[in-house]
Amino acid sequence: QDDKFKKVISHAKEYGYVFQSSEIYDGLSAVYDYAQNGAELKKNIRDYWWKAMVQMNENIVGIDAAIFMHPTTWKASGHVDAFNDPLIDNKDSKKRYRADVLIEDYCAKIEAKIDKEVSKAAKRFGDAFNQEEFLATNGRVVGYQEKIKSTLSRMGKSLENEDLADVKALIEELEIADPLTGSKNWTDVKQFNLMFGTKLGASADTAMDLYLRPETAQGIFVNFLNVQKTSRQKIPFGIAQTGKAFRNEIVARQFIFRMREFEQMEMQFFIKPGTQKEWYEHWKEHRMKWHLSLGMGKDNYRFHDHEKLAHYADAAADIEFKFPFGFKELEGIHSRTDFDLKAHEEFSGKKLQYFDHEENKSYTPYVLETSIGLDRMFLAVFSNSLQEEELENGTTRTVLKLPSVLAPVKAAILPLVKKDGLPEIAKQIVEELKWDFNVVYDEKDAVGRRYRRQDANGTPFCITVDHDTKDDNTVTIRHRDSMEQQRVKIEDLRAIIKQEVDV
Ligand code: ATP
Repeated sequence: QDDKFKKVISHAKEYGYVFQSSEIYDGLSAVYDYAQNGAELKKNIRDYWWKAMVQMNENIVGIDAAIFMHPTTWKASGHVDAFNDPLIDNKDSKKRYRADVLIEDYCAKIEAKIDKEVSKAAKRFGDAFNQEEFLATNGRVVGYQEKIKSTLSRMGKSLENEDLADVKALIEELEIADPLTGSKNWTDVKQFNLMFGTKLGASADTAMDLYLRPETAQGIFVNFLNVQKTSRQKIPFGIAQTGKAFRNEIVARQFIFRMREFEQMEMQFFIKPGTQKEWYEHWKEHRMKWHLSLGMGKDNYRFHDHEKLAHYADAAADIEFKFPFGFKELEGIHSRTDFDLKAHEEFSGKKLQYFDHEENKSYTPYVLETSIGLDRMFLAVFSNSLQEEELENGTTRTVLKLPSVLAPVKAAILPLVKKDGLPEIAKQIVEELKWDFNVVYDEKDAVGRRYRRQDANGTPFCITVDHDTKDDNTVTIRHRDSMEQQRVKIEDLRAIIKQEVDV
């Protein structure tokens, strides 16, 4: 698993997807740049989301609010007081960790032990093996499960009650060691606010303390009434937004899974109070459908319903994805009640109410939120697509099986040789196709090597121009996943590609 993750990171660099930020200065921790292919993939994911949310729903509109917001916003939202992570230092290594993540990692290790027991038993019992029964009846496994459950539940309770001494006690009781040095010499647990502060204005006495927004949602809440009135939407309706968010994360590892500067794609759906249960189920189902529509495999997703709820929520679930380091949160679906709008009414002194003509009364709407990290989605797509395949001739190929709709380059146009007028024909095809698709021209190296390069880059089609093209205007089109080749007319290329890459 570690190996797979390392391959993902090095492939992302080698093929121009993701670079470490400011690499020539040895990088900046948990900050990354998207390179030429990464920027395209990221844009395509964003567009795929936007199309499904905004374009396809008459009652959802999109906005683009500023990153800077009036500082009172973050008092109202609770971020100034409660946007904390529990932090613990190791006295020997002087390294800093998130206490809850240390505990979760400990549980993940026990879960790995369960997996090991399961695969051992599956081998031993062969066809007669019943996994569910084994998990429920094998003494050792049941013991492991109980340990995980009681550990997480105790951690949840202590964090909820701000009982940080108990979180530390738990770490000591479980004998959790510093993952890097093995030392068990821990400091007390402290709360650490994740917001980045900055200043607006030049002169020292008039400058105003600001925060970089830690989520995009508040830009939607404070604009709720403006958007509702100008779009003339009736409840239920939604406001969608994509944009940067910033968090001074303590755990700076796992590549683009947890970044200090990242992008969110959020949608706040405004509803009548009392209807939140139905809408919660509705959006859980719809968001899962959106994920499955990309064809990355049903088994890679699962729901995780929250028992411990944030201060603003009355129900919450994550859609988890199977990353190379296990199932982790990819998207959150939160029933936020009227917490945010009420808080902004209180702090701003302005009403944020909706007049319901059918009911002939005003009320503060409830909110259902779907919130997904664009970078996390990028990592899900990229890591799931990267595969090593054994070929019939005994060699292996590296292929990036990106969903075609998301692939940065849709087709590579390759002249078989660099002479006899073939490059000119290939370039002419590029000229024609580039109006509709992102395509590239490639003439360097033998055609087999060029195919491999495009496979590793995730390009769904290679189009090869050869000597026959001159006689009959046909080319060979090769499909990335099946490696099948077809002879087709140049004039049909557009339709063939379109059929595969259009949503
Ligand atoms: P986590 O528990 O992993 O820190 P969270 O519960 O704080 O995440 P939310 O505040 O619900 O996350 O944010 C919604 C989504 O934004 C997450 O599901 C995730 O995809 C994304 N996200 C949150 N923090 C980060 C980050 N530091 N880097 C990249 N994506 C992030």
